[in-house]
Amino acid sequence: MKKIGIIGGMSWESSLQYYKIANEMVKQKLGGFHSCRCILASVDFAEIEELQHKGNWQELTERMIDEALNLQNAGADLIIIATNTMHIMVSAVEAAIQIPLLHIADAAANAVKKLNLSKVALLGTRFTMEQNFYKDRIVNMHQIDVLIPDKAERDIIHDIIYRELVMGLVRKDSEKIFIEIINRLTHAGAQGVILGCTEIPMLVNNSNSPIPVFDTTFLHVQMAVNDALYGLI
Ligand code: GLU
Repeated sequence: MKKIGIIGGMSWESSLQYYKIANEMVKQKLGGFHSCRCILASVDFAEIEELQHKGNWQELTERMIDEALNLQNAGADLIIIATNTMHIMVSAVEAAIQIPLLHIADAAANAVKKLNLSKVALLGTRFTMEQNFYKDRIVNMHQIDVLIPDKAERDIIHDIIYRELVMGLVRKDSEKIFIEIINRLTHAGAQGVILGCTEIPMLVNNSNSPIPVFDTTFLHVQMAVNDALYGLI
């Protein structure tokens, strides 16, 4: 089994899920006492969040490169960055390391293609919804159309992520707001919804969404475990 290097702590609420799901998957696939070989590099999210909202992506890029190099030097065979937003600097990180980095948007897009959907909504932080690094990859590399919420909806989603979800707060009224937004996007033509923030699965899942959800936390871990056990997928 290859060793998975996880850059996490963004937030630790979702990194906890990465660790749990990875171990459950390995146990399910190999049985017995098997568990996941991994190294978790967990950052202080207060520093990350401050740099993000100040727009200091240069410093954030350097930090992600440092974490990835530390994991590589510690013996990781592959790297995953356990947040959608921090894929902004993925190409710089990839250029700095010699081991593969598994992109979270590819994990999501591959699952969308398995259901033969051609248009999906994308929910995430304002950075993920508004910048091109994520949407463009899904549109250009995977030929899937992407719908994003309107400006007011994006602001609400972003605030719920940073004021509640990354702090471990799961509120019924916020769940209702997310479902209302997904309903509107469904009427606008979305056939599925990418939960493009690793904390959104705390609020939204296939039992409360009107359309299929693509849980990037689960799908990213699944991609990494499949690679660790069976080679690149
Ligand atoms: N975990 C979130 C994501 O998947 C947001 C926190 C962050 O900014 O990294 O985008």
